[in-house]
Amino acid sequence: MTAHLDQNATTAAAPEVIEAMLPWLTAPSANPSARHPAGQAAADAVRAARGAVARLFGARHPREVVFTSGGTESISTALHAATATRPGRRRLVTSTVEHSATLRALEARAAAGTHDLVLIGVDRDGRLDREALFAAIDADTACVCLLVANNETGVMFELEGVGAACDAAGAAFHVDAVQAPGKVPLDVVALGCHFASLSGHKFHGPRGTGALYVREGEPFLPWFLGGPQELERRGGTENVPGIVGLGVAARLAQKKAADPAAQAALAARRDRLEATLLGALPGAWIHGAGAPRVSNTSSFGYTGWFQNETAGAGLRPGTAPDAAPDAAPSVAPDAAAVLALLAEAGVEASAGSACSAQKSGPSHVLLALGRSPAEATATLRFSLSHGTTDAELDQAAEATIEALNVLRALDSLDSPDRVLDRG
Ligand code: PLP
Repeated sequence: MTAHLDQNATTAAAPEVIEAMLPWLTAPSANPSARHPAGQAAADAVRAARGAVARLFGARHPREVVFTSGGTESISTALHAATATRPGRRRLVTSTVEHSATLRALEARAAAGTHDLVLIGVDRDGRLDREALFAAIDADTACVCLLVANNETGVMFELEGVGAACDAAGAAFHVDAVQAPGKVPLDVVALGCHFASLSGHKFHGPRGTGALYVREGEPFLPWFLGGPQELERRGGTENVPGIVGLGVAARLAQKKAADPAAQAALAARRDRLEATLLGALPGAWIHGAGAPRVSNTSSFGYTGWFQNETAGAGLRPGTAPDAAPDAAPSVAPDAAAVLALLAEAGVEASAGSACSAQKSGPSHVLLALGRSPAEATATLRFSLSHGTTDAELDQAAEATIEALNVLRALDSLDSPDRVLDRG
């Protein structure tokens, strides 16, 4: 059996989603721009999906939704519209722990010399420095881009008041809500944002689908130029099967996020996994454990387990020390070694974000939390879905404990001096 605990990277499309999409994959002439009945049926299906995605966003009107190919496109589109409609404003404000889809897009503008980037830091648990944030929003600010929930740690930002501050300054506020659906209810009106981004494959919708919320009245310039599709906000023939599937996934996710019992069950499973790991591996910790987190994500740092058995003594169990202990140097292997053993045991997890898995080096998110490069690379991310079973969690916990014990024993064999150091 495979334990799928990499659900923040992507999720399987729900059976209901696939069932709804199938007829649209084979339907001839189903171009929503066509005047004939088949085209109009496709237009109706897109309209229904737009309503469902608008409800998932908590939007006031379906026309506030633009269908895209995913989170990255939505984010780049929002940034393009926000900056192109605010010429002369140079400042772009974001946090140090954003997804690379946001950071790279903002950095490109700074590198081109058109904008200045202001990075807002976070504390040891990943909470936003709100004082620095509000101080950075001014009449020169074009756009503020912030996550709802972090993809690596699950930490949720406190976003109250940011929308009002942006409105007062004439700046745009974009929220990256990609990791929210199914975990927390979204309410773009309460958030007061101008733009919000979603990605279908993160909540059991089809891959290659996404949506951008654009607040009614917000000026907009399209990123994809072409035909008049999406109320002239994104050129290109609509991906009707994908949009239909996204609509079904949106309905399912909205139901889950609004169901306290489903959320409590998900959080209880995640907490049980963490308790098992921390109980068996003293000195290990959970990044962001002291901050509000979405109920499915666990960022597990195991450096302390390799340092000595008493590392972390005096802390709340499972919380990270404020600074790397001076004592024994870290000999923790990086996550790639652990993931290889987990894969052999049929466990899918990741090291930080899936997007950073292809590039070497420590996670920028964990470094931003004040972790050392060694601590950041010695971290596993487990991410659950509502369908994750107790058997999958037991398999993952057992395999992780086994892998870290094996690697520590190997390290001891390789480094006899360090064994003596540890006493
Ligand atoms: N934002 C966050 C928080 C994400 O987790 C991801 C994907 O990992 C993205 C944006 C990019 O989404 P997509 O892969 O759909 O382009």
